[in-house]
Amino acid sequence: MRDLADRALDVARSEGASYADIRIIRYRRQRIETEDKRVSGLMDEEELGAGVRVIADGCWGFAGTAELTKEAIERAAREAVAVARASSLAKPDRPVILAPERVHSVTFKPEVKVDPFTVPISDKANLLIRVGEAMLANAAVRKTEGWMLFKREQKLFANTEGSLIDIDVTTSAAGYTASAVANNDCKSRSFEPPPRTSGYENIPVEMMLAEAPRVAEQAVQHCFAKETPVGKKDLILDPLHLALTIHESVGHATELDRVLGMEESLAGRSFATPEKLGNFRYGSGVVNFTADNTLPGGLASFGFDDDGVPAQRWAIVEEGILRGYSTSREVAPFIGATQSRGGNRADHWGSIPIVRIPNLSLEPGRKKLSLDELIADTADGIFIEGMGSFSIDQMRLNFQFGGDCFWEIKNGKIVGMLKNVTYQSITPKFWGSCDAICDERFWVPNGVLTCGKGDPMQIAQMTHGASPARFRQIDVGGASARMRSYKNPS
Ligand SMILES: [Zn+2]
Repeated sequence: MRDLADRALDVARSEGASYADIRIIRYRRQRIETEDKRVSGLMDEEELGAGVRVIADGCWGFAGTAELTKEAIERAAREAVAVARASSLAKPDRPVILAPERVHSVTFKPEVKVDPFTVPISDKANLLIRVGEAMLANAAVRKTEGWMLFKREQKLFANTEGSLIDIDVTTSAAGYTASAVANNDCKSRSFEPPPRTSGYENIPVEMMLAEAPRVAEQAVQHCFAKETPVGKKDLILDPLHLALTIHESVGHATELDRVLGMEESLAGRSFATPEKLGNFRYGSGVVNFTADNTLPGGLASFGFDDDGVPAQRWAIVEEGILRGYSTSREVAPFIGATQSRGGNRADHWGSIPIVRIPNLSLEPGRKKLSLDELIADTADGIFIEGMGSFSIDQMRLNFQFGGDCFWEIKNGKIVGMLKNVTYQSITPKFWGSCDAICDERFWVPNGVLTCGKGDPMQIAQMTHGASPARFRQIDVGGASARMRSYKNPS
């Protein structure tokens, strides 16, 4: 592999590239899906290939190959340079300039206690089927779904600056859902333990079985739940729910390529423009968002990004003020940064790396505060658990979120379940209304496994940790109220 990498870089250089890198990657992926008491989907694949990226005449060029021979690698390197030269005909405003980076010669291989690919598929499927059976024991549960996902990425990165980086990272995740039909309605409830870059030891087998009856019961309870109230409510959001809110309203909003207008697909720009850096109030004083690609087990903890930049920890929002972005070596100089934050990642050897959301977490509250105490301190609110529907505008400002499960809070007590709850807000107003965050005992590193970005779309993963947090006087139930009052136009 090392020889092939050297050869690609030599060819790119001799063809006139001022910079080149190569990623040679072997992927192993396995996904098991069950419905009720049967296996409904099975994917188990292995794939190997290389991508060569170059700068020539001030422009990027890229080519990939699934054939790992000397000839194919040389061809890819020549093709990448030809693509860069063709791109330069479009006369871009400025040449690509990379933020400087040190030379790294290193291996990154976090510990995997149990290689998930050595665990028989039948064992995994049987666990999901047992979970399904446990949920179907509840007569009102009519449908169950279970899944497990395992990924291993073994990557050799080399560039013309002399870096040589070996990466070997495994990801393990699982989850399930029960859907109930009762009371003239159909509702669901899900269970998703935090996905992590780790081995099969991350699959909490006993907990998955133990939680199944509760998940089934709550799916049924959801059918009988009271319709959402409409109006301003105090919301308490659980860590899994917050993972999605953070992802959409903070993560994507602080990807610098989007901020700069260089990448606009899929609700692609951002209000969080560079003149706001260091002075814009993104949230209240208790709100701190930290990016941390060094987080052990983090879904974006790959040691180095696809620019060959090491994983880092830095502030995105500090005591409510916008402090940073996720960057690549290409976009970092646009904000005067002297080093990239290491956020450039591709989802495949055949994809060009793009700026990605890091592991991005809401810091726990500094004062001792439990979830029970937070609920006890709330007079009229809703406690929302899990992820549901969402939509957000192309500037990452106006949004609406649903959830997986909703509990009505009256005078400091949970009094029952609600359904069809959605809330609407505007990013800085929403985070500005956050007045309490539970302490570190309640912090959970959930995450997103299927973040889509770019065109053609690439899929990435990242962790979003949080403790339960409270948001004051948020507009709730508008969507549901509009739906109920909607009449056919005559
Ligand atoms: Zn995303």
